[in-house]
Amino acid sequence: MRLLADLVLTDAGWERDRAVTIADGRIAGVAEVGAAQPGDVRLAGKALVPGTINAHCHTFQALLRGLGDDLDFMGWRDRVLYPFSERLDRRGIALGAQLAFAEMLRHGVTTCVDFFYLQDNGNENAEAVIEAARAIGIRLVLARTMYDWEGAPRRYRESVADAARRTAELIARHRGDPTTVVQPAPHSPHGASTAMIRAGWEVAEAADTRFHIHVAEGRYEGERTLREHGATPIRYLDKLGVLGPRTIAVHCVWLDDGEIALMGERRAQLVYCPSSNMFLGDGITRIPEMVRAGVRIGLGTDGGCTNNRASVFEEMRMTSLLQRVRLLDGTVLPAERAFAMGTRDGAETLGIDAGVIGAGRLADLVAIELDHPSLQPPIDLLKNVVYAMSPQAVTDVWVHGRPVVERGRLTTVDSGDLVARVRDLTKGWRM
Ligand SMILES: [Zn+2]
Repeated sequence: MRLLADLVLTDAGWERDRAVTIADGRIAGVAEVGAAQPGDVRLAGKALVPGTINAHCHTFQALLRGLGDDLDFMGWRDRVLYPFSERLDRRGIALGAQLAFAEMLRHGVTTCVDFFYLQDNGNENAEAVIEAARAIGIRLVLARTMYDWEGAPRRYRESVADAARRTAELIARHRGDPTTVVQPAPHSPHGASTAMIRAGWEVAEAADTRFHIHVAEGRYEGERTLREHGATPIRYLDKLGVLGPRTIAVHCVWLDDGEIALMGERRAQLVYCPSSNMFLGDGITRIPEMVRAGVRIGLGTDGGCTNNRASVFEEMRMTSLLQRVRLLDGTVLPAERAFAMGTRDGAETLGIDAGVIGAGRLADLVAIELDHPSLQPPIDLLKNVVYAMSPQAVTDVWVHGRPVVERGRLTTVDSGDLVARVRDLTKGWRM
């Protein structure tokens, strides 16, 4: 199959009138259009950009949107997250994933990390999320959470041995799956014990995968790890031997200068969720400092009830704007840098071959409508994509070469039916 577009964003910048050839889920090449071929798809008036990478999310939380929108983190966790996550059976979990994936695809997200923690002492719920992703056609990184803090709901919690064994089994079962990757994710220094964090690291090392963990989202965590473990969060993880190139530390709002330097030295990675951090009033991660320390950075939306949008283009914009507010400097984090975080860097963070349009890369692509009012005037298209573009300008999406959105409509699921099922499930829900 060839996709013929007016503009294609490659490593060389915008290339005019190009054909992107796709075979077996990958991009075989980008070349001049030349003679027509059978199977050509002409995208007149459109540009192709890499699909965006949502490197941190909790899909079931899409169903909790609107329940406790104006609370702080602890209020939200104790009055919304914990009680309502108890209401979802396996079908509800799958429905939340479908809703989140459907919305993300419409916004041009082609890879989603689901940091998934409703385990019910098994892998069946995680498998339901994997099946939902496969059916709707989004690329999934299932960050299989390992949780043992006794203050959390029972269904999140497992023994260290059970969590490690199940996580290793799930990784093995999906190794070689073209659109699903499983990676271990001890919840956080407050949600997972020292033994659990170490066990997650050993699973990641044995299977050679990335390792996800929430770190220092709230200020309380620094004081708490210092009191309980004698070190601030990043130093604590370093002492445990779990800070390295496979580490994906999510949030990192409250790090001191030494911790930022340590992340750079260890080549640990950051996933940044600016909208969610703003929504919950967490604070502002020091992104330019992290960049200078050599930390690779991907972007995430976080859950649907702490954002409440599902667009990585939006997170690119917020990444730049929020740092400008913090530093009172309109020159920090230009659009090109933010775009890379939401595409190429996010993919590298996760260890997948996406985020770039080029030969050999995964065929995860987004078409945008060049005549859309939000992209006018077309003086600098990439800056417009980051700062100005409306989600309605996203018209078509391919994941692994499969068309999953065509002319703004999902091809794999009946949107009306999906919305009806969501309304039915959540009928009468109040905080
Ligand atoms: Zn999270």
